[in-house]
Amino acid sequence: MDSGVMPAALLGHGDPRNALADNRYTRAWRDFGASVPVPRAILMVSAHWYVGSTLLTAMAAPRTIHDFYGFPQALFDVEYPAPGAPDIAAEIAEVAKPRWIGLDSDGWGLDHGTWSVLIHAFPEATIPVIQLSVNALEGFDEHFDLGVRLAPLRRQGILILGSGNVVHNLGLIDWQAEENGADWAVRFNESCIALMREDPQKLRTLVDHPDYRRAVPTPDHFLPLAPIAGLAAASDSTGSVLVDGYVAGSLSMTAFQVG
Ligand code: ZN
Repeated sequence: MDSGVMPAALLGHGDPRNALADNRYTRAWRDFGASVPVPRAILMVSAHWYVGSTLLTAMAAPRTIHDFYGFPQALFDVEYPAPGAPDIAAEIAEVAKPRWIGLDSDGWGLDHGTWSVLIHAFPEATIPVIQLSVNALEGFDEHFDLGVRLAPLRRQGILILGSGNVVHNLGLIDWQAEENGADWAVRFNESCIALMREDPQKLRTLVDHPDYRRAVPTPDHFLPLAPIAGLAAASDSTGSVLVDGYVAGSLSMTAFQVG
């Protein structure tokens, strides 16, 4: 891969409190941010913007959204004041054509899927950030295809990131499990790692994996990986693991880098 092509990555965000934590995941995000060329803008696909259409934030100053409850006040006090970039959002929508992407000029902003990892990866918050929604009406293939379409942006200084979790089942959380994954969670996560390392084009086969229903009870946290796999496939490359691990049995924190 030549130096003019930005890497891309899926970062497993997990618990919102990681925004204020210092652990091996947050350090991996920090190391990743420090390792990449300074991007013109960051395009972030967030699990927490799960809506019925494909949208980009296109406001000049996106607000920091605290889209959770029951967490310490310190988390509600976090601001990630990165600028937006309406012109770059329009450029991204253009690259995606003939697929339609809506430009959201005053609705959403940066939710915790985005800021809980970027506060570590790019703590200065000076690089423009544009969020991309996960479309609840579309499946894996459409999100993968969107990644393929967006691939040219990597040559235009755009750092494309996804924020979600490969395994994310809040209903099966077992705090006693601490940093272990349940058997089914490990099987699914390991299958995902193997496919990303060997053949991201085949990542869609995970939707037929025997543990898919437990690992992915709702698709919101899994789908941000699909466009990242699409970017890997578009450049005929594979993904490497930046960091890996489990929380409370039913979450995996795997992060992948492409390029
Ligand atoms: Zn989340």
